[in-house]
Amino acid sequence: MTKSIFFCAKCKTYTLNDKTCPNCEGRVVSPQPARFSIEKEKKYSIYRRRLLKEEMKD
Ligand SMILES: [Zn+2]
Repeated sequence: MTKSIFFCAKCKTYTLNDKTCPNCEGRVVSPQPARFSIEKEKKYSIYRRRLLKEEMKD
């Protein structure tokens, strides 16, 4: 789930290509606002770290 999805600003298509759009060769951008993404990842990493600790106890 860590694989990034990109979004073509030109033809509004989602793509896994991180450089150019396969449709129109336009520039691709990250579809999520950076701030939202960082907040989410921070929360997720705390949660994941806690899970890993729990698992290591066993
Ligand atoms: Zn495009």
